[in-house]
Formats: sequence, structure tokens, C-alpha cells
Amino acid sequence: MPYAAEWNVKAQDGIRYNAGVARNATSIPKPRKVDTVVTLDTPIARTTLSGDSFAATLSKALNLTTVGDLLHHFPHRYEDRSHFLPIAQVRHGEAVTIAGTVVNIENQPTRSRLTITKVAIRDETGIAFLVFFGNRFIKSAFEKLGPREIIAYGKASRRMGGGRVELTDVEWETIDSDADPIGVNRIVPIYPLTEGISQQRMRRLMWNAVDLYAYLAEEFLPDELLTRLGMPDLHTTLREIHFPSTDQMRQSAQRRLTFAEFYCLQLILVARKRQAQKAAGVAFPIVDPVVAELRDVLPYQLTGAQGRVIGEIGEDMKLRRPMNRLIQGDVGSGKTVVAMAALLVAVRNGYQAAIMAPTEILAEQHYLNIHRTMEDLGIHVALLSGSMSEKAKTLNAQAIAGGEVHIAVGTHALIQEGIEFHRLGLAVVDEQHRFGVLQRAALRQKGTSPDVLVMTATPIPRTLTLTVYGDLDVSIIDQLPPGRKPVRTHWKHGEERAAVYENVRGLLKQGRQAYVICPLVLESDKLQARAATELALHLEHHVYPEFRIGLLHGQMKSAEKEEVMQRFRKAELDLLVSTTVIEVGVDVPNASIIVIEDADRFGLAQLHQLRGRVGRGDTQSYCLLIADPKTDDGVARMRIMTETSDGFQIAEEDLKLRGPGDFYGTRQSGMQDLPFVDIFRDVPILHSARAEAIATLEQDPKLALPAHLALRSHVQGRIKAVSAILAS
Ligand code: ADP
Ligand code: MG
Repeated sequence: MPYAAEWNVKAQDGIRYNAGVARNATSIPKPRKVDTVVTLDTPIARTTLSGDSFAATLSKALNLTTVGDLLHHFPHRYEDRSHFLPIAQVRHGEAVTIAGTVVNIENQPTRSRLTITKVAIRDETGIAFLVFFGNRFIKSAFEKLGPREIIAYGKASRRMGGGRVELTDVEWETIDSDADPIGVNRIVPIYPLTEGISQQRMRRLMWNAVDLYAYLAEEFLPDELLTRLGMPDLHTTLREIHFPSTDQMRQSAQRRLTFAEFYCLQLILVARKRQAQKAAGVAFPIVDPVVAELRDVLPYQLTGAQGRVIGEIGEDMKLRRPMNRLIQGDVGSGKTVVAMAALLVAVRNGYQAAIMAPTEILAEQHYLNIHRTMEDLGIHVALLSGSMSEKAKTLNAQAIAGGEVHIAVGTHALIQEGIEFHRLGLAVVDEQHRFGVLQRAALRQKGTSPDVLVMTATPIPRTLTLTVYGDLDVSIIDQLPPGRKPVRTHWKHGEERAAVYENVRGLLKQGRQAYVICPLVLESDKLQARAATELALHLEHHVYPEFRIGLLHGQMKSAEKEEVMQRFRKAELDLLVSTTVIEVGVDVPNASIIVIEDADRFGLAQLHQLRGRVGRGDTQSYCLLIADPKTDDGVARMRIMTETSDGFQIAEEDLKLRGPGDFYGTRQSGMQDLPFVDIFRDVPILHSARAEAIATLEQDPKLALPAHLALRSHVQGRIKAVSAILAS
């Protein structure tokens, strides 16, 4: 280890190491430590970039450990500090960056114990006040600073008639073009930070990291693609994304990163799809008579959409190529019966079928439903769920393995080790969003390439289906059963609660049933359970002594939960107080009002699912949201809920409010967090990436050509699972 001695010499940190050297943005001297062995995987602490303690902070607080991590820690916004907005031109409601000299600092007393600090800064055009809430140290920090020039970013407010400018949510820095040349006179990156790291320090670190190590990042997109699409190479991209030379270059860099991310994901999904299509699966030749058989026993007519989707499934099932289909349908659109058609087709062709639900309540409900419909057809349905007695479980498992059971209904207990099927031909996965890709794969492995049908009640924006489900064919049930009246949704404030309860009473008196969803407690399931219990007791004793109240929460044993659901289904309970455990799938058509307490604490998708518990019969149903939202987002969510009941539209609004970062909670798909991706704006990039991925795999299915080797290893790195597909 020739450099061992060097490593032992610790710089205080990478920044102070260079202190005092005059320089400008383009000639920051390189740190003096020699480090020839650095790769992207080298820990930051082992480089000249930073000392141990700073490296530890980076790792702990920002999850940045290696040089590669640093290069991929992207700014979440930029400030164009080549010119600042004059204070006189600041407009109400905008997020702005201004520069000025500190002229006054003042603490304002408030009635509550909260301190409000106002710092006045002045430029040639006016004065603006930076407002800090409850920060006891800010005053002395500014006092120490003196009348210096600072840059401040924040949300501007300006009272009517051009009144004084105030900035809240302020981020600020001093301007010092000697000490911080990369912080002024250019487009400056602003990084996601945490306590204890300043923008200046982060920027300096990133500057050095990019300067010294960006060259290590190996280009993985094929040259031909870069040239044809006019995208910058990876080194240029990394430089420009961190320290843009122009706004246009920044945009090209962002586009390239977005494209690359989508392209790799699509390569994985498209490869998976090609692979699935090659596999020899099961053909189910008898379809149409089976569907007719089911129609005959149903108490209602299928909707046009259900008929069409069953047709699409039938076409898939006739083929030997394994079906891989996603059914998207809004809550209440009647997905279960579509699944039943597929299950029956499998059985009538001599195979077993399985349907897997995300919760025990739902598995039980499916079991009852399917059993009721199918028993007259001589079909054997069995339930397998975690809460059953060991004895019952063993018996059912044996019957499944022996082939006496035609249709197995269950939770993930179905895919556990030790469950064998006699002849599994079809696997249905309900409410897919609760299952990962891997679980889908595990169920698939229970048979020899069975057909797979995935059903989701969480509509995702149509434009995004490809991102998340690019390996599946998609059918959409875009019609509700006839006679459904849209749920009437009202937003009420807490003080109107008594009136809300009276509305509920009115419906209960008519023999309808109700749900009351208790406020979301994020801290723990125990506290959540307690909140639900207290609410139930309160309603039982003080509000509805004349009605029968039930309680459902996540801490109850499965058997207890099932019993409560059974009683509610049989209308032995009038009102069910519940946590979000009833969110998915629960179907009790006589329930026609749902009250959601503190509704603003729930996300849009969740509210829509909860609302979907009512409006499942032919009577007018109601959803009453009780909320006193404290944020603009909260208000927006309540508005959207009262304005639309279209799941797809809600999904799009949801995405707009939450931003795409959250959407990549689909981490299972290996997506990297790109703070600048705007899923709506970038849809064309997504489509182009998919087309290119299809073309690439068409030309080189295993990415084995020399031009694709770097791409292949990059993609393999992203998701290990893909290597199996590409190597086969
Ligand atoms: P989801 O799509 O939310 O899973 P379900 O399959 O639970 O919906 O169906 C919701 C309700 O609508 C059930 O009570 C079901 O019996 C009923 N239903 C489904 N299809 C029809 C139809 N074509 N006509 C009338 N009622 C239907
Ligand atoms: Mg359902």
C-alpha cells in the first residue's frame, strides 16, 4: 500500500484544506493529496474530498458513502445568480431569490411562546423582510454577521396595494465571492441538505468531486443513440447537472438522465415481457362456453366493459403463450367477476386456479363470493389464510396438492414454502399494489408457467402504465355497473361534526349501514388501534346508543376481524368504526355512508379507495370528509375529492401534488431518484425510451453486441433479476 502513509494524514476536511487560496470558479486548485486508486466505489472518506467526520455526516444523514453516490446526488433546484430579482419586482406568491444588505434584525413578541424574527434586507429597489418562526438563534446569527450582503430564497408574500415584501421558508447564504466563487455569478446548484451541512460546503465538495472524478463514470448509452438523439455524453451530463454552464445545457443534461433512467427500466420490462412470451405455458381451448356458463349463474348482466375485458383475457388464455395481463378498474367497477370468469375457464379446461388477495379480510370475502357463485357449478373452492387453524390449513393444503380443490383463495400464505399445487394453470393477483414484482414471480413459480392475471384498484395515470407495468398487457374496465349513483362527497369542518353525525343517523334509521374511519395515527399501530377503540366507545355511548357499533383495527386478531366483517356484512352491525384496514376491496353494498375523520391526513389515492367502500349498491351514497386542513395541499386534496370521483383523474392529481419522487416508491423497479423528473412533462421522453428499448432488444436481445456491453452491465447492476432474463 504505497499510499498508506497518505491516508493516515487526515485533512480536517476537504474544504478547509484549501482555505485561503485566492481563485475563481474555473480554477479551484485540486487538493494536494495524491489518490490514484479512486474508483466510483471508493468511500468518500478515503479520498481527498473530505475528512472522516464530514464523510460520516454525509453517509449518515444523506446516505452518501462513495464517490459514485456523490456524483449522483443531484441538485434539487438551481439559482441563476448571474442576476438577481430586484426587490421592487417581487410578486406575491412566487418563490424568489433576492440579494441585499442586512439593515435590521428584530424579534417580534407573539401571544404564543413562538418567536418570530424579521430580518430586513435592502437592495437598490427596496426592502424585504425575511421571516423566521421559532428559531431562537437566528437573531444572534445575523447580529454576528453585521451589515453584510446576503442571498435569500423564499416564498414571497406582498399585501394588497404593493405593501411590504416578506419571505417565508427562507434559505439564505452570505455572498463572498472570494471565499465562495462558485456560489455567485453563475447558475448555482442547490442541493438537498440536512442539519450541519451548509450549501457552501456541499457545493465545494460537489465541485471537487465533479472536477476530480466525473471522468470515472463510464458511458453506458450506446454512441449511436447519443448521436442520433443529440444527447450529451455522461461526463458532460454530470458536469452540467451539477454546475450548468447555461440553462440550456442543464436541460439537456436533465433530459439525458431522464431518458437513460426510463430506457434502462424499459429494457428490463421489455426483456421480461419478451421472455414471458417465449415460455411455453398452458393453453385453455374451451373459453366461450365457460363464459356463457358463468353468465347464466350471475344475478346480474355483465357490463360492456366487463364483457370486453373477459374477451381479452379469453383470447390470451386460448394461446399457449403465458398470459401476463393487468386489469385496471376503478373501485366498484366489478373486477371480481372478471377474475371469476378466468378462474372458471382454467377449471373447465382441467387445471387448478388460485387467487391471492393482500389482506385476510379480502381473501375471506373473495372466498365467500366465489364459493357462493361456483358451488352450484360443482366447483370446489378452498380458503388458505394465515389465521386459519394449523389443522384446517394442513387439510386444505393437502386438498390443494391432491387436486381435489379447483380454486384456492388465499393471502400470501398461498405462495409460502410447502404449498404445492397439483396442476396450477392460472394465478390471479388481486389489488396488485400491495404485492411486489417478486411475489408475483413466486406465485408464478407454483406452476409451470401458469397464466397470470393481475388486478389493481389503484388506477395509475394512463400515461404511466408503461413505466410501472411495461412487462404486462393492460385491460381497463372503464365502466361502472348500471344504476350506480356517484357517491356525493362533502367536506365539513370539525365544528360541523354534530350535523354530520345526524346525517349518519338519518341513514341508519332507514336501515342503511355506515363506516366511520378514524384519524390516521402515523406513530404506531398500537396508538392507531387505541384511537379507533376510543372513537368506537364514544360513538356507542354518547352518539348512537340506539345502534349496534362494531370496531375494526390492525391490532385485532384475524379471526376477530373476520367475525366483525361477517357481522357487518350480515347487517348485524349498523356502524363500523375502522382504521384503513378496510381500505381495499371490502364490498358491503348496503353500506351507504362513510365518514372520514381528519380526512386531510390521508393521501388522495387512499381517500378514493376509502370512498370506494360505499356506492356499491343502487342507493345514493355519501362520503363526508371532516377536515380542517392546515396546508394548501390539504385544502387541494379536499377540493379534488369533492369535485371528482374518477379514479384516473384523482391519480393524476395525486401525482401532481406528491411529485414524482414519491411515485418512485416503486423502488422495486430500480428507479433512481431524479428530483427533476416531471412525470407529466416527461411523458414524451418515456415513450421515446420505450420505443428505443424495444428497438435495441429487437436488434440485440441479450445485449451481447460490443456496442451494448457497457449498457448490459449497467442494467444488470440496476436489477440483479434482469441478469437471469438476459443471460438465458
Ligand atoms: P371491485 O372492482 O372494486 O373489486 P367488485 O368486484 O367488488 O368491485 O364489485 C363491486 C360490486 O358490484 C359487487 O357487489 C358486485 O357484486 C357488483 N357487480 C359487479 N358487476 C356487476 C354488474 N355487471 N352489475 C351489477 N352489479 C355488479
Ligand atoms: Mg376488488
